[in-house]
Amino acid sequence: MSKANLYPGADRARRRLIGTVALLCLILLCPAEPLRAQSDAPSAKVALTAAEAAFIRRHPSIRLGTDGGWEPYVVATPGGRIRGYDADILDRVNALTGADFQLVLGPWREMLKAARERRIDGLSTSAVHEERRDHLNFSDVYISLRKMLLVAKGNPAGIHSIRDLAGKTLVVYRGNLADEKLARGVEGADLMFVDSIEDCIGAVIGGKADATFDNGAILYMANRIGMPYLEMAGDSGSRLDLVFSVRNDWPEALSILNKGLAAIPEHERLLIQRRWFPGAASGLESGSLVPLTAEERRYLLDKGRLRLCVDPQWMPYEYLDADGRYQGIIAEIHDALAKRLGIELEVVRTATWAETLRAVRSARCDLLSAAVETPERSPYLAFTRPFLDMPLVLAARVEQPFIDSILDVSGQTFAVIRNHALQDIFNRRYPGIRLIEVDNPLAGLEAVRKGNAFGFIDTSATIGYAIRKHQLIEVKITGKLDERYSLGVGIVGADPMLLSIYDKALESLPEQIVDQALSRWDSVETVKELDRALLIKILGGLILLGLLIFYRDRVISRYSRRLEEANRRLQILSTTDQLTGVANRRKFTEVFAKEVTRADRYDNALSLIITDIDHFKAVNDSRGHDSGDQVLIKFAELFVQKSRDSDLVVRWGGEEFLILCPQTGLDSARRLAELLRQRVADSDFGIGKPVVTSSFGVAQYQAPESLNDLVARADRALYRAKAEGRNRVCAESPGKQAQTPDAEAEPPEDDRP
Ligand code: GH3
Ligand code: MG
Ligand code: MG
Repeated sequence: MSKANLYPGADRARRRLIGTVALLCLILLCPAEPLRAQSDAPSAKVALTAAEAAFIRRHPSIRLGTDGGWEPYVVATPGGRIRGYDADILDRVNALTGADFQLVLGPWREMLKAARERRIDGLSTSAVHEERRDHLNFSDVYISLRKMLLVAKGNPAGIHSIRDLAGKTLVVYRGNLADEKLARGVEGADLMFVDSIEDCIGAVIGGKADATFDNGAILYMANRIGMPYLEMAGDSGSRLDLVFSVRNDWPEALSILNKGLAAIPEHERLLIQRRWFPGAASGLESGSLVPLTAEERRYLLDKGRLRLCVDPQWMPYEYLDADGRYQGIIAEIHDALAKRLGIELEVVRTATWAETLRAVRSARCDLLSAAVETPERSPYLAFTRPFLDMPLVLAARVEQPFIDSILDVSGQTFAVIRNHALQDIFNRRYPGIRLIEVDNPLAGLEAVRKGNAFGFIDTSATIGYAIRKHQLIEVKITGKLDERYSLGVGIVGADPMLLSIYDKALESLPEQIVDQALSRWDSVETVKELDRALLIKILGGLILLGLLIFYRDRVISRYSRRLEEANRRLQILSTTDQLTGVANRRKFTEVFAKEVTRADRYDNALSLIITDIDHFKAVNDSRGHDSGDQVLIKFAELFVQKSRDSDLVVRWGGEEFLILCPQTGLDSARRLAELLRQRVADSDFGIGKPVVTSSFGVAQYQAPESLNDLVARADRALYRAKAEGRNRVCAESPGKQAQTPDAEAEPPEDDRP
């Protein structure tokens, strides 16, 4: 790969600003100690040939050019110093050989030109290019990186190899020819090109793209610009080998360089790598990450995957979540260790720590994730050096004053997690103390809350986490113990090979990984858990409220519908005759009032017909009351059929009916009565003979008479009809007032419906 493909086009001003921030970060992040250890303990000097020694005397400094934008290989400090992976490597070479290889920064194209024209002596951060052999020689590879696939944290698209990129979007930093070429060769992937590394990072984090390639630098940049949301997802199958290039007429310079590189001890090279590629650790050659012997590597290969026993409920250190996934501080550390060793872990599922220990004793796992070394455990477990060391604290009820020493309350009972090392520690140091065993921190704190134990003893993180998560306001941390939990990895069966492998892996693990895991799980996760719990409660509350309102509305609308229906029925009932369905007296009173008003205002005619079935008693007597009812029903039907829509048929009582005829004069009303009389006489009421007949009385409204007066006059006419032999129509002759003409031309009798 050509150097020019690394980062051309990066914005220089921004780079300088970022560089300053990066330097500050580096100063803060990189502990001074390893640096000192490195210079205090120089490795044995390299033996040089006379020609090489003479060369160094003739050439007090050898200048290698590179591009200042290629962090973390080279990092230009504001003070004009050059740091970075290349600088540290050359420092070691210089210390080992006595030469003085220096870095010169400039735009890469200019550096290439300067090297060709021998204004500088060679190049750093370069790759082997045959076409440059006419003026340059190449050193041995000083860093070999597998080009890794980078994805967003959590690997949402589930990418593990180049094959998983089919149908996915792969973003490539334009101008990185090697990456572009590599990307075009990925079958089925959609390619997206961006102009800067930041855009590349942004595209993956923002979900516009699923993956990109990394050579250690993108991840470095992502972490440095405050976007540490990328992770390695697998090997792209391609690699980047970086070499130093030296003018080819200086063979001594090349041999000195190669001798120096070969003489850097493995652990020093690792230190340098860890300093500049902390997050990209898994992208480096796995073999070189942990300095394992060939025998140890073969051991891991033979084993395949390692079975890991864990505490399933020791939040936030480690636990199995609802989906059975291994989570927490120790989980993250084991994940990092496994990646560095290039192995796969299989978590052995258990329900309690006691069960975990049983699994360990019966050798159902190879490793116990984290435990304190105690003499009681030595027969079946060996321990690596501790990788976590936590103070133990005591939680008691809130009303307890601060407890200085456990001895002050030694007469009390304390809850501890069943089979935790604490029991062994306490039994040894405070033999009189009473301990009760619980399965998890919540049970311990509950025992304190209920008064079954005076205190619960565990690490501050565990107790703090449980108190926050379960919102236990009645307990608090009231004291600190002198004892600590020093956790190492337990090697089941005390296998010395595995012990050596894990000791080396822990040795090579950057402190940063442990610190990050600790800070992430001690605060953020708890808050997240709390927020989630709170959110679920709030959402639950809102949903419940919504359901209640919805339910209330439904009930209300159901009842109001029922009420409306009842009112409507009531209205009908109150104005309708139950047997025949025609209007009752009440309805008649209402309508009469309205029609009288209208008749008065418009001077319209208004007439009333009253009818009474002849000898109805005889119908009842001969056919029964029910038959009489049927006659009444049919009688009313016939009247409704034969009258106009504007007429109102009323059951006045018994077998007496009224027909109120608006806009109808006396003659028209009499004709209607006559028609009805005939229809009644002609109708078959379903009772055979004797034929039902009816007598009619007709009267026209004479303003301003009352309802009773009008009915009385019509009734008088009816009485006459009865008296004159029944089955006939009699009209009450109009009074002294002039009879008003019909408002409408009266249709001929036959036209009446
Ligand atoms: P007329 O009017 O021709 O003088 O003789 P009538 O037999 O019809 O005499 P009256 O008006 O005195 O009797 C009315 C009868 O109508 C009395 C009662 O038994 C009957 N009747 C009143 N209301 C009902 C009813 O709702 N159903 C039935 N089946 N009969 C009724
Ligand atoms: Mg009667
Ligand atoms: Mg009658």
